Amino acid sequence: MTVSASALFSETAARARAEGRLILTEEESKAILQEQGISVTMPTLATSADEAASAAESVGFPVVMKVSSREITHKSDVGGVRLGIANADAARAAFEEIVASAKAAEPNAAIDGVTVQSQAPSGGVEVIVGMTRDHQFGPVIMFGLGGIAVEVLQDVAFRIAPLTKRDAAGIIRDIKGYPLLTGYRATRAVDLNALEGVIEAVSSFVSETPDIAEMDLNPVLAYPDGSVAVDARIVLTAEDDG
Ligand code: ADP
Ligand code: MG
Repeated sequence: MTVSASALFSETAARARAEGRLILTEEESKAILQEQGISVTMPTLATSADEAASAAESVGFPVVMKVSSREITHKSDVGGVRLGIANADAARAAFEEIVASAKAAEPNAAIDGVTVQSQAPSGGVEVIVGMTRDHQFGPVIMFGLGGIAVEVLQDVAFRIAPLTKRDAAGIIRDIKGYPLLTGYRATRAVDLNALEGVIEAVSSFVSETPDIAEMDLNPVLAYPDGSVAVDARIVLTAEDDG
């Protein structure tokens, strides 16, 4: 794990615990993963419609906007994710709509605002890189295809961390959907080296950080030339787990 990722993690974890929470926000989680060398779409928090519009202009269109609340972890379940926002007026409108639908769905959740981030290009394959902590084996890395594949088919593979280079290559090749990553019909193969790099970076980070109970990069978009995590969540261990 990198020194800067470790320092940022400790600082962020201490602040979250002081606030009585174990789940790091998307912004906090991505900032740590970025220090660990993982490519992410970094969110900027906006607390008003005008702030959202100017954040969107500095990010560059199209942007994605998402509800930011320490009490909402499944953002799209509350109508809290908007894709394809193409101009400043659309960003202003999206701010109001996201806040309104999140409030309607979760009336008691405190909403910090709405985050703005660049939209990853279309045509990527959605995959998930995750980690859970097993009482016997310690950190276990999970890899799978995103969306319906993971929810319905549960097409996922596991390896005990830390992963060797061979394990990182193997976990990708273990899933049934592997041919979807190597190109079919008109689709080009994704950059498997980049994906292995993400898996190794997650493995190295969680292996050296006993304080992490769970981590999800869901999804990572995989392209022929690299990959990017567009959503991320780190969950800290409860004091009595560790
Ligand atoms: P949730 O909290 O519901 O998991 P996500 O942040 O994962 O919300 O967003 C839901 C979906 O929107 C993702 O699975 C992905 O398909 C898409 N998405 C989210 N962020 C981006 C982005 N920056 N670029 C492109 N697509 C995105
Ligand atoms: Mg997600």
